[in-house]
Amino acid sequence: MKHPKHERTLVIIKPDGIQRSLVGEIVKRYEQIGLKLVGIKMLVPSEDLVEKHYTIDPEWIRLAGEKQITSARANGRVPISEHPLEIGTIVLGHLKKYLTSGPVIAMVWEGAHAVAIVRKMIGGTEPLSSDVGTIRGDFVLDSYVLANQSGRAIRNLVHASGSVKEAVDEVKHWFRTEEIIDYRLVQEAILYEDFMGGALK
Ligand code: ADP
Repeated sequence: MKHPKHERTLVIIKPDGIQRSLVGEIVKRYEQIGLKLVGIKMLVPSEDLVEKHYTIDPEWIRLAGEKQITSARANGRVPISEHPLEIGTIVLGHLKKYLTSGPVIAMVWEGAHAVAIVRKMIGGTEPLSSDVGTIRGDFVLDSYVLANQSGRAIRNLVHASGSVKEAVDEVKHWFRTEEIIDYRLVQEAILYEDFMGGALK
C-alpha cells in the first residue's frame, strides 16, 4: 500500500486571487504546513475545461444548488429558486464566466491528508461565513447576497478538490502525467520518518 504522504489534491488560484496579488500568500500557506508542490502552471481556462471540471462529479450541480438553498434559509433569506438543479445550472454558467475571465494558477499539492488539510485551510464556500484564519475568511469579503445581486459567481480566490476521489479525477483533468514531478523534499524526513532524519547521529 502507498504511504499516505503520497495523497494529492488539486488547487486552483482563481482569477481574483491572481488580480489581488495573493499567489505568494496562498502558496506560502500550503508550503508552511508541510505539503509538497508537485505540479504548477498558469493558464487562461476555456469554458469547456471549466464545465468539464465542475461536472466530473455528476451530483455537483444539485449539491451547489442545495448549499445555496440551505444558506439562504439559515439566514432568513428566500432562495433564488426552490429547485437545486436550477440554481446549480445558473451557478455553473457564472463559473464559466468567472474562471475564464483571466489567468489562473493550477497546482498539485502532495502530502498526508492533503485533500482534507487544503480544504480546511481554504475555508467554506462563502467568504462572509468562512472561518477567520482560512484563506477565504482572511482575504475576501464576498457573499451569496452580493453574488446573487450582481448575477455572478461568488469570488472566493481558490478552488480545492473536495474528496480524495475527486482529487484524482481533477488532477487528471488539469495535468498530463509528465507535468507532475515525483521528487523528495528533505523536510519529509522530519514530517514522516521515525528518527526525524537523524539530526543527532
Ligand atoms: P467550493 O468551491 O467551496 O467547493 P462549490 O463546489 O459548491 O464550492 O461551488 C464552486 C464555486 O461556485 C464556489 O467556490 C463559488 O465560486 C461558486 N458558487 C457556488 N455556489 C454559488 C452560488 N449560489 N452563487 C454564486 N456562486 C456560487
